[in-house]
Formats: sequence, structure tokens, C-alpha cells
Amino acid sequence: MNYYSLNHNSPKTNFKNAVISGIAPDRVLYFPEKISPISTDFFENIEKYSHHEIAFEVIKQFVGDEIPEEKLKDIISETIFFDFPLVKIDENCASLELFHGPTMAFKDVGAKFMAKCLEYFNENNNEEVTVLVATSGDTGGAVANGFLGTKGVNVVILYPSGKVSDIQEKQLTTLGQNITALEVNGVFDDCQEMVKTAFLDAEIARKLTSANSINVARWLPQMFYYFYAFKTLKSLNKELVFSVPSGNFGNICAGIMAQKLGLPIKHFVAATNINDTVPNYLIDGKYAPKPSKPTISNAMDV
Ligand SMILES: *Cc1c(COP(=O)(O)O)cnc(C)c1O
Repeated sequence: MNYYSLNHNSPKTNFKNAVISGIAPDRVLYFPEKISPISTDFFENIEKYSHHEIAFEVIKQFVGDEIPEEKLKDIISETIFFDFPLVKIDENCASLELFHGPTMAFKDVGAKFMAKCLEYFNENNNEEVTVLVATSGDTGGAVANGFLGTKGVNVVILYPSGKVSDIQEKQLTTLGQNITALEVNGVFDDCQEMVKTAFLDAEIARKLTSANSINVARWLPQMFYYFYAFKTLKSLNKELVFSVPSGNFGNICAGIMAQKLGLPIKHFVAATNINDTVPNYLIDGKYAPKPSKPTISNAMDV
């Protein structure tokens, strides 16, 4: 599968290079060149597929022949080893619980999948790659856990001082080995800015990648749980609307990709807190970024 820079100012590249570099040379996101809907047969029979089989059907076209089928299935088994329960709230409303992974963040799925892909691509060389990640709390923990002990990969996490919870700070700072956490005197956006600055230096950027949801191996696997929700809800024969709590809008982007693959989702609601730069942009087309304000939903303070 080829990936192109969304600004079309960089050469196309394959899945491997998109994962290893994280972002295109023109510093714009990589996106898959083609999205082929999955067969209707798959959707009609989805209840007969296991979670692992669904994940494989969903992700295989985006990896192509760059990881052998059996290896890709192993990576999926190592990624999906916890449940994604749908808990009923009332007649027409349920909560898709994405906090049953090792660090209680939905990012556990994308972080582990990406770590295992990088490990596979690094298997036969001695090059080291550094994953640089900015976190408002959840991403750092999931990335630290997902990448712990991954051969050939060092992880550096930047987190805002006093802005992550006590548990999150422990998740970031206590693992050791190939995980380094740096406490930044500032807010999440300052951390994100430092990451962007590092990527601007061509010499440094050569050995860096990102595990934020700009990386295709981080956000594409997040499609899986939309399919799992559909599998559970299918027999009700109702139209599906997903409301997705959003910060960088990576998770909802994965949902929209799932829809492009044929998943029958009628509508998405991109829910934000008071940090509403993106909804404002969608209303009037003017991008007016402003400093984030801290809230209790800190993963959405972007
Ligand atoms: C990461 C995260 C978000 C934001 O997700 P995006 O993909 O950045 O939109 C929202 N809520 C929780 C709990 C998170 O961990």
C-alpha cells in the first residue's frame, strides 16, 4: 500500500517508511492512497468472525505485502488481548468502553500495534529509531507500555508538569529500560511544539518517528473497535451514530475510515470540551488556534 502526503509535496512511500518516518518530508501527514471497501459478505457474516479475524480483514489492505500474513496475525494477537464491552445506558444508547487495556487508554491498541510493526521492520538491521511523543496524559502511558522492551526503539515522552494525573505520571516515569520521560515546564501544546521543532531539523528527524496519531500505524488500528461495536449491535438492526470524545481527532478519523471501508455508520458526533478550535474551524472555515485550557478531560485539552 502506498501513502501520500496530504499536501502532495512529497514522494509517495510504502507502509514501512510511513511508519518509520511518522510524517512526510514536507512535514504533512501520510494518508493511504486507496481505500477499498470490504466485501458485503464480511459485514453480513461479521458475527462469525473473531476479534482477531476482524482486525486482520480491516488492516490487511493498509499493510499490503510488507508484513507476511502470519506475522501480521501474530501482531494482531499481541495487540488485541482485552475486551471492548458495550455497556447499555438506556434503550438507544450504549457506552463503548475502551479502557480495558493495560494503561486504560484506547491508545493501547494503536501503540502496541505500532510497536510490533516497528519491531518487525527493525528485526534485520541495527538501526535505532527514537519515538518522540508529546502527551497530555493518555498517549504517553499507552506508548510507554506498548513500546517497553521493543528492540531497536527508544522512546522519549514529553509531558506537561502538573497536568497529568498521579497514575499517569507513574505510568510514564517508572518503567525505565528504553523509556525516558521528560517533564516539561508548560502545557501540552508546549510539548507538542517541541516535538514539531525536533521534526523540523532534518538531521534529527532522520532518526525520529512519532507515536501520536499522526502515525498511520497508531491510528489505523483504532478502526477495529468500531467494527467490534457493530458486531455486537448488528442484530438490533438500528442506525448507528458514534459520538467520539475528541482532542486531536485521530480516533474519530479512524471511525470515518471504518465507514469508508463499508461499516454502516449513519453519523458521527465529534465531541469536544471548551477547547473548541476544530469545531469553530468547521463552522466558518477559519483556523484560529488558541492556547488550550486545562479541564478534567485532559486528553481532550488540545
Ligand atoms: C486520546 C483521548 C482522547 C482524544 O482522542 P483524539 O484521537 O486525540 O481525538 C479523548 N479521550 C480520551 C480518554 C483519550 O485518551
